[in-house]
Amino acid sequence: MTDRHDARIRVLDEATVTRISAGEVVERAASVVKELCENAIDAGAGRIRVSITSRAGRIAAIRVTDDGCGMIPKDARLAFARYATSKITGIEDLFSCKTLGFRGEALASIASVAHVTLDTKSREGTGISGTRIVNRGGEILSESETGSPFGTTITVEELFFNTPAREKFQKSVAAEIALITGIIERMVITHPEIGFDLTHNDRRILSVPGSGNLLDAIIHLHGLSLARQLIRVRGGNHRVIAEGYISRPSLTRKNQYHMYLSVNRRSIASRTLAGAIKEAYGTLLPADRYPVVFLDFTLAPSEVDVNVHPTKKEVRLSREDEIRKDVISVIKESLAGECLIPAAGSGSAALPGLEYPVRFQYRTPEEGGAGVREPILRERIATERQLRLTGVQPKSEGASAIPDLEIIGQFGTLYILARTPGDDLILIDQHAAHERVLYELVSERAERGMGIQELIEPVVLPLSPGEREILAGALPLLSEEGFGIDEFGSGTFLVRTVPVVLGKNVGPGEIREIISEIIAPGTGRGVDSREQISRIVACRGAIKAGADCSPDQCRQLIEQLGQTRNPFTCPHGRPTMVAFRKRTLDELFKRI
Ligand code: ADP
Ligand code: MG
Repeated sequence: MTDRHDARIRVLDEATVTRISAGEVVERAASVVKELCENAIDAGAGRIRVSITSRAGRIAAIRVTDDGCGMIPKDARLAFARYATSKITGIEDLFSCKTLGFRGEALASIASVAHVTLDTKSREGTGISGTRIVNRGGEILSESETGSPFGTTITVEELFFNTPAREKFQKSVAAEIALITGIIERMVITHPEIGFDLTHNDRRILSVPGSGNLLDAIIHLHGLSLARQLIRVRGGNHRVIAEGYISRPSLTRKNQYHMYLSVNRRSIASRTLAGAIKEAYGTLLPADRYPVVFLDFTLAPSEVDVNVHPTKKEVRLSREDEIRKDVISVIKESLAGECLIPAAGSGSAALPGLEYPVRFQYRTPEEGGAGVREPILRERIATERQLRLTGVQPKSEGASAIPDLEIIGQFGTLYILARTPGDDLILIDQHAAHERVLYELVSERAERGMGIQELIEPVVLPLSPGEREILAGALPLLSEEGFGIDEFGSGTFLVRTVPVVLGKNVGPGEIREIISEIIAPGTGRGVDSREQISRIVACRGAIKAGADCSPDQCRQLIEQLGQTRNPFTCPHGRPTMVAFRKRTLDELFKRI
């Protein structure tokens, strides 16, 4: 094998090694994909193909192919050595490093826990045919000349074959594929000029051509209707430039999964940046909603410390405060340049003040019926229907857990004011109360035979490839819980039935939200998925804050709450009612 070219990879000296945050980078199959794809990006690839094979409930092989610079034989051999990298030569390079990798650890770590085959051919090494290296558990078993195309293919098999403990803790294949899809989606956004293909057992999950246009990439992942609700962002100063797209306030999410943030095109999680963006939206968004954003921040490499965490998911920004302010002002400017009044029907409920209209009503009992505003007919019917659904419990023999209450009125279209026989004042949160009633009903539905509600028109779910993967894995469970969802071909899903407690009270938009909430990564921390679904369904099916209730409806609700096993908190543990003792009020007014 002639090798006239100089090796590019070198092993870092000890002084440098001790200063880079070394650590475990290969915790699971998805981390292997992440590291291999990052190497392909660093190698200048124009197209990256990832194929995953699973067999008997476990990931059997991961293969990443790129058409990047490839390696000459000398480098291919060295690539497996620990701390061997072509990307930095000493610690000082870290401050100008523009590549995703720099520690020279990934290949060594992967090889140490798997069987790895590397096929590579350098674009520089004319006359040199390709090289194949087989590594097993960190030991090079063989090296041969092959006729591979330009670029690199790395195949990882038997992952964790020599670390049975690690192997045991691997998640299901579906969960791993979902995670992998999420990782690649983020790379598609940070590198729209690169084409990506992802397949699982020859099933195509994702394929983007890499046109170089970020909006094209977003459309590929999330569809046109989401893309239409975005605002272009480009601005900044000598410290930071923000570039990408952010959503109009009419497009929000319940969690931060759809905030695609990157610094110098490295996808990262950053509380500072996410917080700054949220702050810039200010009152345009309700406190518990997040915008959808695809933003890259360009910072001088010397201002970003990527050497904080082995997987480099977190970075440290110097001059954090200034950068935060800069980001707030760029986002504010972008929002200010737009007409943000949403078109009728485009989710205006997300506007602050509309979702929870808190009204004070100065009425005497004569005009308003015991201080309760009479709801308009449509609202009244909707609430009636909700209460009827939850009114099916047979009255238990035992006394209600809450005292007899006399209803005084409704306050702020959210709180029911009532008086106990002992003349204490009770405030009941109508949403939390009904949520508790619904939750107990949903959790016991097996015994009670709660039904499903067929939708008049099936609801189409617009999902990104990553979300589709998660949904596909959750279908059996969702169907047990009453959500009849079919795959309609080419990655489209249709919701045909919902649990009857959601009944006719939720529109297509809300059904989409419920599903996206159920499948959101990170949902259900600490509780099992069934419990999580019960909670979400209860919350979504319950009488909303903001719904006027008639005196009779208030009474029914309190009665139903009294029949629950735990009437004092909602399923999330917040109180359903608060008492103000007469005595405490008297004290407050300095009467006693
Ligand atoms: P790092 O990326 O931190 O340098 P790795 O262990 O991931 O460390 O890779 C070691 C070296 O192997 C890289 O610096 C690079 O020179 C080479 N290499 C790895 N993957 C590829 C690839 N897909 N194409 C070309 N070179 C690669
Ligand atoms: Mg690397």
